[in-house]
Amino acid sequence: MAFEGLAERLQSTIKKITGKGKVSEQDVKEMTREVRLALLEADVNFKVVKDLIKRIKERAVGQEVMESLTPGQQVIKVVKEELTELMGGENSKIAVAERAPTVIMMVGLQGAGKTTTTGKLANLLRKKHNRTPLLVAGDIYRPAAIKQLETLGEQLTMPVFSMGTETSPVEIAEKAIEKAKEEHHDYVIIDTAGRLHVDNELMDELQGIKDAVKPDEIFLVVDSMTGQDAVNVAESFNEQLDLTGVVLTKLDGDTRGGAALSIKAVTDKPIKFAGMGEKLDQLEPFHPERMASRILG
Ligand code: GDP
Repeated sequence: MAFEGLAERLQSTIKKITGKGKVSEQDVKEMTREVRLALLEADVNFKVVKDLIKRIKERAVGQEVMESLTPGQQVIKVVKEELTELMGGENSKIAVAERAPTVIMMVGLQGAGKTTTTGKLANLLRKKHNRTPLLVAGDIYRPAAIKQLETLGEQLTMPVFSMGTETSPVEIAEKAIEKAKEEHHDYVIIDTAGRLHVDNELMDELQGIKDAVKPDEIFLVVDSMTGQDAVNVAESFNEQLDLTGVVLTKLDGDTRGGAALSIKAVTDKPIKFAGMGEKLDQLEPFHPERMASRILG
């Protein structure tokens, strides 16, 4: 389950302080030390942990807690608020283009869950707006990727725009948008090529698509189970493409939570959605507060 390991550790640490009528500076020190270790063990970015602990300490030993009737609970409230803040505010809205269609570009490394998430997102948008998005097969290097998207389209009974492997991704994206206008699709979701590692050629190609179609959203899909690697990938993609948001996949199997807790702080881009399983209805808006509650119990 998501965050299970981290949750267990933090909850036992925090239990010690909950019932306290008085919280001494020493108590706060001990608690923050444990929280710090738990977060580092969960593979949260080192600098992110340092800043977070500093803020918790400042607030927990300050007036805010000392004057409170139940200082123990107040300390926990501080930790929860800081974790929520760390993961970003509520942010799962999708930009809407002034003129339809709204164009969403999906980027990410191979295996992160990009194609699956393209289908999941389309499913979510159709449920919400009752309109069918147009899916676009922009990975021209792997025929299997095109096939995979087409299969998803069949499962969802949604149209998939593909031009095979001989046309450039820029042209495919442009043609897809023309078609979406003709057929009155509100959303176009472009699945792009992935590689095993970040490389310049891939970035140039993605930049080319971005320049040509000026997407309303560029979502990076990253595998939360890869922890700080996911954070590094997010940094690279963000530097090159100026992302508008991140989708964290495989959160259902991530017991540590390092990526979820670090990405917003490191890239300043919000996590908008989380993949919670392989099924096409297992994509959820990412709610930082709910995540923090899940972690702290
Ligand atoms: P792509 O190469 O980035 O397009 O990745 P795929 O969409 O092919 O996904 C790679 C694998 O990850 C597939 O087996 C998916 O079923 C799986 N996957 C994707 N998202 C999730 C998720 O949120 N949870 C779990 N458990 N598996 C996922």
